[in-house]
Amino acid sequence: MSSGTSRYESPFGAPEGAVPPRLVVVGSIAYDSIETPHGKRERVLGGAACYFSWIASFYTRVGLSGVIGRDFELELLSPFRERGIDLSGVQSDTENDSFFWRGRYEGDMNSAQTLETRLNALGVYEPTLPAHYRKAPFVFLANTHPAVQNAVLDQLDEGAFSCCDSMNFWIENEPDELRRVLERVDGFFCNDAEARSLAGTTNLIHAGRKLLELGLKFAVVKKGEHGALLFHREGVFGIPAFPTKDVKDPTGAGDSFAGGFMGALAAAGEAGAEQLRAALFEGTVMASFTVEGFGLERLFALDEGSVAERRRQLRDFLPKAD
Ligand code: AMP
Repeated sequence: MSSGTSRYESPFGAPEGAVPPRLVVVGSIAYDSIETPHGKRERVLGGAACYFSWIASFYTRVGLSGVIGRDFELELLSPFRERGIDLSGVQSDTENDSFFWRGRYEGDMNSAQTLETRLNALGVYEPTLPAHYRKAPFVFLANTHPAVQNAVLDQLDEGAFSCCDSMNFWIENEPDELRRVLERVDGFFCNDAEARSLAGTTNLIHAGRKLLELGLKFAVVKKGEHGALLFHREGVFGIPAFPTKDVKDPTGAGDSFAGGFMGALAAAGEAGAEQLRAALFEGTVMASFTVEGFGLERLFALDEGSVAERRRQLRDFLPKAD
């Protein structure tokens, strides 16, 4: 990374009289080009931090942080500002273009094939969190360069409950930097293939337990349409995915899952076994909306009523234990 941060501008000031966010997210803000069996979209708004922050804002006050490039159309983030998401942590790199990702889904659409990743501004990003973000009690390091995740951890006040996500791209290209992140955070989100590759074992239960040995309080392993497993120090919980018939585009499902999960924890203010179980349910509810439209399309139309209805439907779908 180069030194000096003079190439950055902060296009969005803190909202007037802003109350510090309870949940801060740092991660990619992207232009995505997506192809699924249901259609194609070119250069739409995406990025892990965008999906996460939108969903988490249904639960708590959110501060978004990340880098955009000189080609970024600022109006794309207007809906976020209108929803009350604090954008003062978004930094604009005046010399580089925005992060760009091109992906394709085929068949059961459970995993994306990455066709192109242009890191651009993300590859040289030196994050600076606004002072009022540093006190946030909950922090999520969404998918981004693990060096950025470490730099953010360096800036946090002690005592923040921090969790992170990552993906095969970083596991393969930055394994050492990523391991340093995993040794510092409280919780980790990944998919089944990533858990197996990080833990070096094919048995998923074994892999989840091995991840905890890094010092994590919990690890969530997502299995696409098959749901998710949550490993924590007292055991393991599982939940199926909501049975959605119309999966149009799975992009962002993992980030939305994490947004519901972390949003619920931040609203609860603690992360004991009971809150983790409830968070797993909320993540499942929220991810089920994201896949119903391309990019953030469905999420921009989401309201509290639809979320409450989906919670009821998911409860009905789950077997009753007594
Ligand atoms: P997911 O929830 O896993 O479907 O995440 C999808 C989002 O991840 C897309 O909007 C992409 O812009 C973003 N993304 C893809 N590759 C990377 C990467 N290497 N680093 C950070 N973000 C990425």
